[in-house]
Amino acid sequence: MTDPDDAAAKPDDAPLSPPPAANDAARVTPMMEQYIEIKAANPDCLLFYRMGDFYEMFFGDAEIASRALNIVLTKRGKHHGADIPMCGVPVERADEYLHRLIAQGHRVAVCEQTEDPAEARKRGNKSVVRRGVVRLVTAGTLTEDTLLDASRNNYLLALVRGRASAGDDRFALAWIDISTGEFRVAECDRSSVGAEMARVEPGEIIVSDALYADAELAPLLRTFPAVMPLTRDVFDGATAERRLAAFFGVATTAAFGAFSRLELAAAAAAVTYIERTQLGKRPPLSPPARENAGATLAIDQATRGNLELIRTMSGERRGSLLAAIDRTLTSAGARLLAQRLAAPLTDPAEIAHRLDSVGAFVGDSAARADLRALLKAVPDLARALARIVVTRGGPRDLAAIRDGIFAAAEFAKRLAAMGDIPHELAQATQSLCRPDSALAAELARALGDELPAFRRDGGFVRAGYLPVLDEARALRDESRRVIAALQMQYAETTGIRSLKIKHNNVLGYFVDVSAQHGEKLMSAPLNGIFIHRQTTAGQVRFTTTELGELESKIASAADRALALEFEVFDRLATSVTAASAAIKEAAGALALLDVATALAALAVERDYVRPQVDNSLAFAISGGRHPVVEQALAGDGGPFVANDCDLSPPAEAAGQAATKTAGRIWLITGPNMAGKSTFLRQNALIAVLAQMGSFVPAKAAHIGVVDRLFSRVGAADDLARGHSTFMVEMVETAAILNQAGERALVILDEIGRGTATFDGLSIAWATIEHLHENNCCRALFATHFHEMTALATKLPRLHNATMRVKEWQGDVVFLHEVVAGAADRSYGIQVAKLAGLPPSVIERAKVVLAQIEAEDRTSPTRALIDDLPLFAAARQETKSASGAMPQPDAALAAVVEGLKALNPDEMSPRDALDALYALKAKLAAK
Ligand code: ADP
Ligand code: MG
Repeated sequence: MTDPDDAAAKPDDAPLSPPPAANDAARVTPMMEQYIEIKAANPDCLLFYRMGDFYEMFFGDAEIASRALNIVLTKRGKHHGADIPMCGVPVERADEYLHRLIAQGHRVAVCEQTEDPAEARKRGNKSVVRRGVVRLVTAGTLTEDTLLDASRNNYLLALVRGRASAGDDRFALAWIDISTGEFRVAECDRSSVGAEMARVEPGEIIVSDALYADAELAPLLRTFPAVMPLTRDVFDGATAERRLAAFFGVATTAAFGAFSRLELAAAAAAVTYIERTQLGKRPPLSPPARENAGATLAIDQATRGNLELIRTMSGERRGSLLAAIDRTLTSAGARLLAQRLAAPLTDPAEIAHRLDSVGAFVGDSAARADLRALLKAVPDLARALARIVVTRGGPRDLAAIRDGIFAAAEFAKRLAAMGDIPHELAQATQSLCRPDSALAAELARALGDELPAFRRDGGFVRAGYLPVLDEARALRDESRRVIAALQMQYAETTGIRSLKIKHNNVLGYFVDVSAQHGEKLMSAPLNGIFIHRQTTAGQVRFTTTELGELESKIASAADRALALEFEVFDRLATSVTAASAAIKEAAGALALLDVATALAALAVERDYVRPQVDNSLAFAISGGRHPVVEQALAGDGGPFVANDCDLSPPAEAAGQAATKTAGRIWLITGPNMAGKSTFLRQNALIAVLAQMGSFVPAKAAHIGVVDRLFSRVGAADDLARGHSTFMVEMVETAAILNQAGERALVILDEIGRGTATFDGLSIAWATIEHLHENNCCRALFATHFHEMTALATKLPRLHNATMRVKEWQGDVVFLHEVVAGAADRSYGIQVAKLAGLPPSVIERAKVVLAQIEAEDRTSPTRALIDDLPLFAAARQETKSASGAMPQPDAALAAVVEGLKALNPDEMSPRDALDALYALKAKLAAK
């Protein structure tokens, strides 16, 4: 989205005009003085300064914006003798420009005229219209549909750290989507803060200056866009509870639940920042909901990336798991589905509630079809509501509330007709009934059929709703008819058939009669009505009180009609705001129904099965498929080969209380392109789907809840991305070996291939041992090091599996079938042949391979497995250092030094013998 030129326009590295200093104000025009003052109060924002139909920017802001938006840089007046750079964007198109600035990491302060220019003129000719910043537009605090992706949440996240003496710092996160009102907090430790932040995927992060400058956190924060450092007071723990309570207008936050000090600090920081950016307007936030540590499946950033959950490695939605499973019909449903996918649950009971709902709609196709038909017309209630509450709403937002409330009632009725429904759906039904239908009825009465986008356009109140408004509109629209009626009436009263009402710019409306009738109107009794204004050659002109009134009525009718519409709008908006809690609840229920019916539709369409999720350590998938690859293949014909996977603890171990029960590790070997990576990922994705509460692409699935999911790909697979190195691979592998517990699921795909063969093999080897002996987690490990399959003889819970291939007339055919056993060879040359390498190269490679294999027979794999002290590394961690490992030997070093000092050529036989004795003595002294 950002091209390199645009990136160069970021505030930090752009060469700017010298910032104007406020004390220079005396020498500048009053308007510039005002500008400089407002700009000084908002130094870290671009200032959109309203002048007529434009937002203008000056000085450095103008230079940045002209480059970022590719708009013309002009100048206006002088400052200290130098031209003032200026550029502007039309108010009508401001949203579009805001969108581009925000996307490039800028923040914008929108400064409006806060009084009528006429008022300013009353203070004197030179006085400047009052202006003030009405809003800060930042990436994490958006409400406009034009600035937001309808199908994704947009979170502002506040991060705080509590330092602990032992070095195990705690972190609290608070995240808010002001466009929907969601507000959550959580606390975690250093090892999971990255995963927690990754799952929220914030649009903007606020941290204290201290945290921003912290070297240890810098690499983590750098992986997120728009990180904003703020002064310490925003994160102050002492005032946190008070600020939070004040925001919600309650005496204490106790009713919201129990929060740690750290959580309160994060929550208060988030609302304080929102108050700042919204200039005091309070969006309809839900009270903060606490997420317990461990309530969701921890998935770090790297794992999310390479499982392509929400978007692909190249950043697209197409090809991601989300895109493959999304059958939602509303924006709110799409957001909820993305949320659930980003944060699968870990409590089997909660997961079961979700699965029950999906199951209910899988089983009742009539209800599913009816509800999905209704969903198509459901508006984005939550976002419309948020805009109305922060007074940024328009008539269409009111209509959305109207339609949403009516729809909610329809849904409740249809759900009731389903009869016995599961817990989650029963709760949703109650929520659907919460909004007052009288409010919707009032909105229906008030709003017209065709609605303008903005309140300022007018014309949205239905005719007949408000008599005074109808009258004002009648005057505005039908002034001719009203005047004509009055003319008829006057002609009748006076008996002058030729009497006309006319209009000109000098007199406005006037009664016009020919000179011969003039006298009649100027004498009693008609002179009581008609007031003489002008006599011309052949005409006499009059006005009347009634006509004067009508005149000013017509002149102000448009204004008045608009003002009345504003009143109606504000009254309705107030009613909506008052009902916001109920409306939000109904909106949540509609989103939930969208997700439940969408997942049911997916399950039926693609033949998914309900997974059994419990507290065991099982991981038994039969007939599993990759949800994304399967759909991609369905496009161009090929069938997807289903595969089983069983990482459950071995049965005999489970039976014996004494033996440690732990899941299995599968070591998968097989040639390139055989389907190893696909198999690994499909099992991770099935776990994610099951725990988010979806049916899964398999014949049957039994999953003991996974608490952490890790997925890493060897560096060579990643090189296409350009920034992945062997070092990154090792850092990530280290994280897994340090963090994975027995509930973790670990996917390692060709770890160790980014370095020389023997290094790589050794690292892979040691990693498997550590996973088996120390982490004791369920794991899938794909490798091209066939030597490693020998490990199965030593590690009881290691299982060898391989991808079946068929060799046919020197070619290799991939069957994509996972079977027990080990691959004996790589078929690398056959794959190369498939890829179209020249025949001469293939032939030569075969000769070289034969040669190498012949030499390799002198050191067969068998020797390797026997010689390697298998568990040395694992044991070393438990035993004290005095045990198996030899100590560095001082005596030996002395002997070596002594030997180096000898020069045999200059020694007599006797000297040589003495030296030999001396060396032996040194060794004996040991
Ligand atoms: P590997 O990791 O062994 O090199 P991949 O997992 O990358 O192999 O798979 C290579 C290709 O084979 C995939 O892009 C996919 O098109 C196809 N494939 C993999 N698994 C299957 C399967 N189970 N059924 C059908 N096609 C598959
Ligand atoms: Mg692979």
